[in-house]
Amino acid sequence: MTGLVLQGINNIFTVMHENQTRLCRLKGKVLDGAENSYNPLAPGDLVEFEGELILRRHPRRNCLFRWNRKRNNMQAVAANVDQVVLFGSVGEPPFRPRFIDRALVLAELAGIPAVVVINKSDLTATAAEQERIDVYRQVGYRVHRISALTGDGLEDLRHILADKRSVLYGQSGVGKSSCINAMYPDCKLKTGEVSRKHNRGRHTTNYGRLLTAAELGSQGSATAIIDTPGIRELHIMGYTEYEIASGYREIAALAPGCSYNGCTHIHEPDCAVRAAVDRGELHPDRFASYAKTRADMQDLTKQYGVPR
Ligand code: GDP
Ligand code: ZN
Repeated sequence: MTGLVLQGINNIFTVMHENQTRLCRLKGKVLDGAENSYNPLAPGDLVEFEGELILRRHPRRNCLFRWNRKRNNMQAVAANVDQVVLFGSVGEPPFRPRFIDRALVLAELAGIPAVVVINKSDLTATAAEQERIDVYRQVGYRVHRISALTGDGLEDLRHILADKRSVLYGQSGVGKSSCINAMYPDCKLKTGEVSRKHNRGRHTTNYGRLLTAAELGSQGSATAIIDTPGIRELHIMGYTEYEIASGYREIAALAPGCSYNGCTHIHEPDCAVRAAVDRGELHPDRFASYAKTRADMQDLTKQYGVPR
């Protein structure tokens, strides 16, 4: 039988088949169809199962990965999704554009369309923050300012999520859970406490989970949300430096103008990317973000080796 993986906690997977869920485990240590045995399944995966045993994973349409520092491997965050909805916020916690940049790179490299959502529109963004938010729109992403508190923009966000399977991604504290609860009152995710790290037992915060249309109170629709644990820091590993550059859309667009074939835009002469920064056509902080992400990957690779 074919089932949809909703969640995996310590190798026990919640699998849904014809609106019934059951807990399953893997047959054997290595799963047929999966590349590695550490995290063979993610919310959104389709599997073949028999009783309580998962026999095989179906090929994925796409998959969002994240580097796991402890194991130095690439962890599947969500599989077979229509879009990444990337949450940020202004105020508290402070706006962190470089986190959003990195998450956008991961979405680009996974071939998944991304939408940027900036929550807490009831709090004022500084001019510098607003300028940096506007960059995302300028390079072609849809950007939505919303507020879970006042309800501003939530109807638009509901439309964006309707009849799609979306993975919601963001740093802890940006108000992702509050937004889900405000849009889908049936959900009642836990929100809010200051010291989330002490709440280790709560799966909403520690494990990704696919929320079905029924759980969202949208029965009969194809809407599904993969809620992911709020993350503290995001590193890009397991890709080449050219891939990182290609994940910054406006840098990728400028790169063909560089004189040096395979330009990294860091030290080569006649670099179209650095020239665009000098002319004020490429936001200096987006360039700095690229340079930092690349240097970060090089340092971590020296320290940990290439991830498995
Ligand atoms: P998550 O970690 O992203 O799931 O964030 P939570 O939903 O738990 O929210 C973190 C904190 O931000 C809580 O104290 C919320 O009350 C607050 N918060 C969420 N949305 C808004 C908003 O739109 N405006 C303001 N001012 N605070 C918000
Ligand atoms: Zn260059």
